Amino acid sequence: MNKYQRLALFLNRVGQPDYRLRQISESIFSQKEINFAKMFFLPLELRRELAEEFGPWLSIKAIRKDFSSQAKKVLFSLPDNNRIEAVSMTYRNWQSACLSSQAGCPLGCVFCATGKMGLVRNLTTDEILDQLLFFYLKEEGVDTVSFMGMGEPLLNDNLFEVLEVITDKRFFNISPRRTNISTVGILPNLKRLIDVFPSVNIALSLNSSFPKQRRLLMPIEKKFPLKKIFPILNYHIRTNRRKVFLSYILLSGVNDSTQHASALISLIRSQGNEAYLYHVNLISFHPAAGLTFKPSSPRRTDFFKNQLLRAGIGVTKRRSLGLSLQDACGQLTT
Ligand code: SF4
Repeated sequence: MNKYQRLALFLNRVGQPDYRLRQISESIFSQKEINFAKMFFLPLELRRELAEEFGPWLSIKAIRKDFSSQAKKVLFSLPDNNRIEAVSMTYRNWQSACLSSQAGCPLGCVFCATGKMGLVRNLTTDEILDQLLFFYLKEEGVDTVSFMGMGEPLLNDNLFEVLEVITDKRFFNISPRRTNISTVGILPNLKRLIDVFPSVNIALSLNSSFPKQRRLLMPIEKKFPLKKIFPILNYHIRTNRRKVFLSYILLSGVNDSTQHASALISLIRSQGNEAYLYHVNLISFHPAAGLTFKPSSPRRTDFFKNQLLRAGIGVTKRRSLGLSLQDACGQLTT
């Protein structure tokens, strides 16, 4: 059970009126005060009880911060001393938080620094929410939330509880439409996500339209192949009329050829009536220690992009605000 649920139950148990939860929530999310001892609107005895029951509200500690003009990368220490990272980005006064769902990741995509670590463990609901709360307390609110940090969010069932709290009007109150889940396509939970949170934005980490090559880049292709993922995404488009994003990290000489662009165009066109709601995000690769790939040149990137545009496919070159921090979402490591 997460601490927001525990808080509601606790207030109920000690006989507090219903408005107490709203008061405390306002203190946390509007006044940005998380210290129960300083919530002077509460009776003294209740302040003491809350501090005793919950201890410090943030369960994770920021131990290193790297700031560039538009991105803030924070290294957090978890209660068991494992470490994770999260990034907050600002673009035209728009605050976006990129969160981790796992310490490490078991999926071993060969271009990913996190994948090199292997899985340490899934993060608890509170540990994920606390990354967001940390930025909430520091920034002028958070406008969008992305699960593109360390780990594969759909391998962690706690994600569903996290989404409930994030979208809960009493707490973070962030619209599901401003929530982005980046996944390699973990099928059972992808279908569950679509059914339970039909409005969240889904980005499939694609990176190659050739199944054989995708399997080399992303071993999970063997278990959850594109040919099984696309019918689920098409079901989402048909049922919920939501755009689906295809993330494509451009790796020089690996997946950025004319043939790769043509294969991507064919893959999207082969989705028939649903093809028009697929949108490609081209992402530049960030070299990291232990990874031998190189980013595609700006010229090659533009060429790739123009091929898609000429074919009538929606495509965006993603601004990567994490660049100056030597990292970007999906490529984090501690
Ligand atoms: S790209 Fe995502 S799924 Fe693949 S290893 Fe990295 S964190 Fe895991």
